Amino acid sequence: MAKTQFGFDIRTALCLECGAPLEVGLGGGRVVCDYCGTSSLIQRRTYREAEPAQTIPETQRLQELWHQDRQPLRVPPGVQRWLVDGLIPMHHRQDALQTWLYHQSVLTHEADDVAAYYLFTLTILLGPLLESRHRRALLEHAVDVLPNVHHRNVIRCKLARHAALDGDIQAAEAWLEHVDPRPRDLMADTAYRLAMSYIALHQGQPRAALRHLGYHEQDVPIFEGFDAEALLLRSHALEMDGQTDVALRRLRGRMVDVAWFRPLIDLSRRDPRLPLCPETIPFLERELLEQAEWKLRPPPLNLTSLPIILLAAFGVDAAVYFQVTRYDHANNSTFVAWAVVFTVLAVGAVVWQLHRYVRERGFRQRATWAEGRTTSTVGYTITSKPVVRARVTHEGNTYSVRAHVVAGVTSSAQLACPCLFDPKTRSARIILPFAPPPPIVPFG
Ligand SMILES: [Zn+2]
Repeated sequence: MAKTQFGFDIRTALCLECGAPLEVGLGGGRVVCDYCGTSSLIQRRTYREAEPAQTIPETQRLQELWHQDRQPLRVPPGVQRWLVDGLIPMHHRQDALQTWLYHQSVLTHEADDVAAYYLFTLTILLGPLLESRHRRALLEHAVDVLPNVHHRNVIRCKLARHAALDGDIQAAEAWLEHVDPRPRDLMADTAYRLAMSYIALHQGQPRAALRHLGYHEQDVPIFEGFDAEALLLRSHALEMDGQTDVALRRLRGRMVDVAWFRPLIDLSRRDPRLPLCPETIPFLERELLEQAEWKLRPPPLNLTSLPIILLAAFGVDAAVYFQVTRYDHANNSTFVAWAVVFTVLAVGAVVWQLHRYVRERGFRQRATWAEGRTTSTVGYTITSKPVVRARVTHEGNTYSVRAHVVAGVTSSAQLACPCLFDPKTRSARIILPFAPPPPIVPFG
């Protein structure tokens, strides 16, 4: 087997000065950073994992894990302020890396729970922003310094996942060798299940993957943040096993809301080494866009309101007529003036309706699907239509527009949502989620 990026036969770490990846042989040793020239000493790989103190019956263990369900990844406040849709955006990568280095230096001097937790969450959130050599060094370095055994094992499982996706099953199994397969911590348990499923899928054994993940969603507890990835992996295994209809049904159930729609599609394509659910996801994407398009259709010309407008105008005319004639029988010119005003108003209302209809129809003819991102929360216009400020990306150009909300209620100022966009009038109709987006932490 050729040397792979996540192979077990090299030692890697981050340069403590600049955070660049370093690499030495298995025995460790001194290495000079290519970027800043600082010399670092990398120790040989050691294991601190003791055998689990006592083993408990599997049913009891699962019960304990179920009790830990529905608890999302707690992100420390210093990291939380960078997050957009639960992830660190690219422009905060350097800040995150510097913070990681700071907390790792704290940990080398003293046992500090806060620093340990910062280091762990940053390792999880920072990994996806780094290229694979850099990411491996970050993960391995974290395993070396993290004081909590469950945290170390979650990171080892991530290393195993990458090795499996690179096709290096030997390395994947080596990373898992010292990982407790039956931990009493839900995140560590889910990480192990995911890593084992990636290995099984690479070996073409979807049923083995389903044994780890559970055939049904409620078979085994899954850590909330990794829920989405587990759902995709389970559906992928079902697809591979020829049960595409089951996979389709399961995913359809979760993708009804736009809050799940985009994140799940993005997650399925995050890792080019293994696009998840290659049949079901594109099918559902088309299906959901068709549904959204139906929602975005303009209201048909509402002729039912025309008689009401005319009747109301007539009523007001009559009321004014009686008011005027009560006091002044002779003053017909005042009545005529009022009648003209109200007739003009009635005709204006009809014209306004027609104009709206024509404008909407024109919009529908020109508009195309675009990716929108909200930049404000929902507000209301004078006609009570909810609107939101959004940045719309269309054919490589980005426009800042006011978008009419056609469906959905919740909004945050940073939400990726599908929208219909007309480049000519620069107007947009956007679909927002009905519930806040789920916390999705990519396991990879
Ligand atoms: Zn350096």
